[in-house]
Amino acid sequence: MEAIIYVMIFFIGIYFGSFFTLAVYRIPKGENITYKHSYCPNCNHKLGILDLVPVFSYLFLGAKCRYCKQKIRPRYFLLEILSGISFVLFAISFNINFLNIEIHKIVLLGLGILYFSALVIIAGIDKEKREIQKSVLFYGLFVSVIYMIYSCTINYNNVYAYVIYLAFIVALLILDNYFLKRKLKESYLTQLLILLVIMVIFSTEYVIIYTIILTLLSIGISILIEKIKNHKPTVKIDNKQIKVPFAFYICVSNIIVIIITNFMYYFKLV
Ligand SMILES: [Zn+2]
Repeated sequence: MEAIIYVMIFFIGIYFGSFFTLAVYRIPKGENITYKHSYCPNCNHKLGILDLVPVFSYLFLGAKCRYCKQKIRPRYFLLEILSGISFVLFAISFNINFLNIEIHKIVLLGLGILYFSALVIIAGIDKEKREIQKSVLFYGLFVSVIYMIYSCTINYNNVYAYVIYLAFIVALLILDNYFLKRKLKESYLTQLLILLVIMVIFSTEYVIIYTIILTLLSIGISILIEKIKNHKPTVKIDNKQIKVPFAFYICVSNIIVIIITNFMYYFKLV
């Protein structure tokens, strides 16, 4: 019984994963992510239902487009598989008893998935383009407002902290708008800060601390690998361009830390 539910969650996960790849590809181009038909980015051929089954289409078509035989990048496939696995791990981490389902856990699981969706799309776009898309940030903000309202119905004491977070976000949005008007490129930093506040809303203090440690660690390691690979320094945080996708690292770290701490909390490992 439980196994069937987790298999279903895996399939939901890979469908979300294929939506993430589509969103990462289309949002920076300003294309519609809901009703526009899927197409091959190489030959623009419309894709049929059989071409759009996540993971399986990739395997059966031999990692190639059915129409133009162009190779499909394995990262789409990887993101779908990883989404499926993380969905299952995240669901298991709540230690749900299927004979006596607690609504609270289900709500947290659902909101968590909506929150992770924002993080994955932000991470993907940042990795490809070194930018944070405002529309995705607003979506994350929307999910965090729902989370705050739900959280307040359980523990009213949180209200004061939430008011401060929201005030902080509004201030950052005004700042961001100011930078945009003056056509300064610094808006990446203010958007990164907005992202951080959204994370603080969803995370406990420990989660934030471990997220930051993991982020710095993985940035350090990736810089080291780059250096070994091509012997020239890659981090140049000058006035021109930010080359390290900070948002990517912090989003991925946050997802990993939340899943691990969830496991430790609900399985009483600490
Ligand atoms: Zn094609």
